[in-house]
Amino acid sequence: MAAQILDGKKIAEQLTEIVKRDVAKFEAARSIKPGLTVIIVGENPASKVYVNRKHKACEELGIASEVVRLPETTSEEQLLQEIDRLNSDNRVHGILVQLPLPKHINSELVLERISPLKDVDGFHPVNVGNLTIGKEGLVPCTPYGVIKMLEISGISVEGKRAVVLGRSNIVGKPMTMLLMSRNATVTVCHSRTKDLAAVCREGDILVAAIGKPEFVTKDMVKPGAIVIDVGINRVGDKLVGDVKFDEVQEVAGYITPVPGGVGPLTIGMLLHNTLKAAELQLEK
Ligand code: NDP
Repeated sequence: MAAQILDGKKIAEQLTEIVKRDVAKFEAARSIKPGLTVIIVGENPASKVYVNRKHKACEELGIASEVVRLPETTSEEQLLQEIDRLNSDNRVHGILVQLPLPKHINSELVLERISPLKDVDGFHPVNVGNLTIGKEGLVPCTPYGVIKMLEISGISVEGKRAVVLGRSNIVGKPMTMLLMSRNATVTVCHSRTKDLAAVCREGDILVAAIGKPEFVTKDMVKPGAIVIDVGINRVGDKLVGDVKFDEVQEVAGYITPVPGGVGPLTIGMLLHNTLKAAELQLEK
């Protein structure tokens, strides 16, 4: 029997409703709106599209949104000063620097300059540490979106064998921590994993985040498994995931399509994180 499709667009709509309601509650209780500032440096067309989408989503949900557009020639020092200014502005609860940055700017230095309480991407080492030791903090949007997708779909991870394919700082590692903290038994795979197909086949849940088009084939999937495809790869004029959807859906129990799977939840989680950041700052 073909897998049940986890429809990211529909699930993202449900998530948006939840965040919208929580934002309204926050505003009623505190008489302020949560505020997100996105900084974009240069003219990368894809980045412009992402930033506009984030701005529009904020407006729809009642989050105050500002976009700081800086020229390609902005120096690292100027960008750091802009972050310092936003760190000390108490109307700004979340700061996001759109990546990639121009080559002359050290991204790591920039991301670490953002106050951990305003780091809505969850990339700051303090937030990485908080996630690792199970302390409240801000969690990277994409893996957090996967968890929300499972929660909203009523799929429990507790006690399940989960295999995470990919160990990046923005997807694989935080995904691993989130699944482990929810009592899954997690195995992490990467480019040096031996007998990868056999390891993947152990997963009741298989999360693919490697950036290799249609890498995961039917023989790598346990029958009935929950297959989450985080990959977004452009092949010609098409977007495909890391999973060979047509054949894997014949064996999986659940599967996310690309596009229309995990992707649509990412912005919802960014707005969730902006609200969370506002709450954390007001608690201080
Ligand atoms: P990275 O390139 O940072 O990491 C890729 C990981 O996959 C690495 O750990 C690498 O292993 C591993 N890997 C690469 N090739 C293989 C292989 N042949 N076998 C096993 N493991 C392999 O990618 P990201 O984590 O940033 O992104 C992964 C995918 O997710 C991309 O397609 C990206 O576009 C997508 N993405 C989607 C988002 C969304 O909103 N839906 C957001 C972020 C990313 P090693 O460590 O050994 O090099």
